[in-house]
Amino acid sequence: MLIEVPDSHPRAASLRIREKLIDGFDKGLVAKAGLIAHGRGECFDYLIGEKTQPFAEKATEAACAMIILAEHPVLSINGNVAALCPEDCVTLSIVSGAPLEINLFYRTKEREDALLKHMLNHGADEVLGVGDDETVQIEELQSKRRIVSKKGIYRADVVFVPLEDGDRTEALVETGKKVITVDLNPLSRTAQKAQITIIDNIVRTIPLITEMLKNMKKLPKNTLQNILHNYDNQKTLQETLSFIMQRLKELR
Ligand code: ATP
Ligand code: MG
Repeated sequence: MLIEVPDSHPRAASLRIREKLIDGFDKGLVAKAGLIAHGRGECFDYLIGEKTQPFAEKATEAACAMIILAEHPVLSINGNVAALCPEDCVTLSIVSGAPLEINLFYRTKEREDALLKHMLNHGADEVLGVGDDETVQIEELQSKRRIVSKKGIYRADVVFVPLEDGDRTEALVETGKKVITVDLNPLSRTAQKAQITIIDNIVRTIPLITEMLKNMKKLPKNTLQNILHNYDNQKTLQETLSFIMQRLKELR
């Protein structure tokens, strides 16, 4: 059961997010390691001021351009993402036309079923990677994350993989796919290896990317290509570290 967090609490927003994850854990959506991964993310959210910063906005804009220009974009979601913002993911899937695929490190039949039910309850029409959906195995990937949907990640040219592990990001990049990630830690292997890294909290990113997509879908193709061409992910990572250094200096 979720605990009521009073609005007056100085860390109300952050505590409410935690409650969602705990609830997700109790419902069998979130893995134990997912709770720990969240703590690592929270730490970096502190450092960026718990707000969407300009480096994240720029990366989000490039991500939108990449998704619109893609032939087969896919939104890969794991237990944490499903627990934190299921409706927002469904809306993003509708607006982008990219299907939702569940991909799990700790894959059990119970977790698969719980996540499928959870996403359907939150408005999804179809969820790939679980249930009756046909899956295949990607050789480059170790562990159960190698199981991917034939209609989803397997044939995708662009994969949106928020809160992802470094090994899988590397493997997806190696298979020639373009990878967009959301990761609060600019130093993680995922953040370093993805083509586009949105350094922000997933709960802020998904609504923002959806809004931007709605507007950007009207843009001509060459404008989108220019946005993508002019985007530099290494610069985003550098700007993030500079921002954190500056912020810490000011706080000191
Ligand atoms: P890597 O495997 O890429 O080197 P890691 O092992 O530190 O990174 P994982 O547990 O594999 O981390 O992946 C989870 C990532 O998601 C972490 O980098 C963490 O900072 C990030 N993260 C956790 N919660 C959130 C959130 N709410 N929004 C955005 N990022 C988050
Ligand atoms: Mg990892």
